[in-house]
Amino acid sequence: MTAAPPATADPGEQDAPDLLDLVNPATEKVIATVTMASTAQADAAIARAAAAYPAWRALAPADRARLLRAFAAAVDADREHLADLEVANAGHTIGNARWEAGNARDVIEFYAAAPERLHGRQIPVAGGIDLTFKEPLGVVGVIVPWNFPMPIAAWGLAPALAAGNTVLVKPAEATPLTALRLAELALEAGLPEGVLQVLPGRGGVVGHRFVTHPDVRKVVFTGSPAVGRAVMAGCAAHVKRVTLELGGKSANIVFADADLERAAATAPYAVFDNAGQDCCARSRILVQESVHEEFMALLEPAVRGVRVGDPRAEETEMGPLISAAHRERVASYVTAPPAVVGTVPEGPGFWYPPTVLAPVRHDDRAFVEEIFGPVVTVVPFRDEQDAVRIANATAYGLSGSIWTRDIGRALRTARAVEAGNLSVNSHASVRYATPFGGVKQSGLGRELGPDALDAFTETKNVFIATED
Ligand code: NAD
Repeated sequence: MTAAPPATADPGEQDAPDLLDLVNPATEKVIATVTMASTAQADAAIARAAAAYPAWRALAPADRARLLRAFAAAVDADREHLADLEVANAGHTIGNARWEAGNARDVIEFYAAAPERLHGRQIPVAGGIDLTFKEPLGVVGVIVPWNFPMPIAAWGLAPALAAGNTVLVKPAEATPLTALRLAELALEAGLPEGVLQVLPGRGGVVGHRFVTHPDVRKVVFTGSPAVGRAVMAGCAAHVKRVTLELGGKSANIVFADADLERAAATAPYAVFDNAGQDCCARSRILVQESVHEEFMALLEPAVRGVRVGDPRAEETEMGPLISAAHRERVASYVTAPPAVVGTVPEGPGFWYPPTVLAPVRHDDRAFVEEIFGPVVTVVPFRDEQDAVRIANATAYGLSGSIWTRDIGRALRTARAVEAGNLSVNSHASVRYATPFGGVKQSGLGRELGPDALDAFTETKNVFIATED
């Protein structure tokens, strides 16, 4: 399969095309070759998006809603195909990939209800009537990482389109296939040309152009903190709106009064899901010292029980890492013999086993930095205050879990931990109907939920005099 961005009309562009081979992380075989868009092609796409904007924003709310519902239905009908693409392109397990395709559908469907509910307000004032309107911004650029190509594209594009913006998506270099398919499905569902475009390309070329081009009015960036900071600085030069979803080093806090069996049985999946390539991974397990030993004894069989293997197999729970380079980076964090190591298949594929590091010092790189792989650290804590202190001793603040049977403690701890998304006796972070995002270096702004539309609209105030 070969995917190419639309041809540019720029006659001056003579350079050889920038081709990138996409590799299946489970087989190490090339599955497709993609042409990375040039700056001129990015500019042409931005011009098409800008040209499509006036008609899209002027569409009657019910008509925009109907088109988005048709888009969601097209995604629904294509779920198995989308899931297969993600298994091959990103090494996701088939179970996860099906969930991700379903999530993309749900997010589009959820925001399909928005065009008819983008209410303004009527505010009582003297001498007339005051109205507010939620106006779209114009062209929105969505920059997506490789770890969850489908959901993260959908979280940006769906509310942006619903609010009346036109959208450009730049998938991560290595994982453009599902985003390209989403763009095809949008066209099949009847979205006009130019309203949603997907532009495979390099971060420093296409992503950078979203930041510097004055016609792109908002950038949604998900990725590493280092690039996120550069994107934010670049946007500042244009006073451009920006949402950042960056990394995490989330704590899974297990109190002595918790259901220890459940806490230990679920802890591996809270960090090894998607092979740990999850910004919400609970990669620091904090266990109250009185039950630390008991917890470790329960954790060991749970970790060894994680089924790592062919991501196409229904029973597989963890697939490979995205690339050989990433595997090397993950391995660099394991400098001492691990407390527990799971198993991996033989043969080709970028495999890395589920790995538990304990004991580990609080200043160990593995405890401080985001590993983005299947490596978890476990440390003991004394009491509630100590747990909160350790949980907050990080530059990140994305998510976290709290395991306790004491509802008061659960709420106190949830309020005290500096993170955007916390779960009590659960590890679930993402629901399309509830807000998602981080504090501190984990990001800026919120995606999903009822309020995400605020990030894709400006409030306009209009006063109408009623007095002569
Ligand atoms: P990355 O920052 O290298 O790349 C992310 C995206 O930004 C890619 O599409 C890339 O091409 C693009 N990019 C790179 N340089 C750019 C530039 N100069 N200007 C504009 N765009 C540029 O990150 P990655 O390695 O793809 O993803 C892994 C990181 O993403 C991890 O740190 C992870 O925690 C984070 N992440 C966060 C969330 C979240 O919601 N908070 C979700 C997924 C991933």
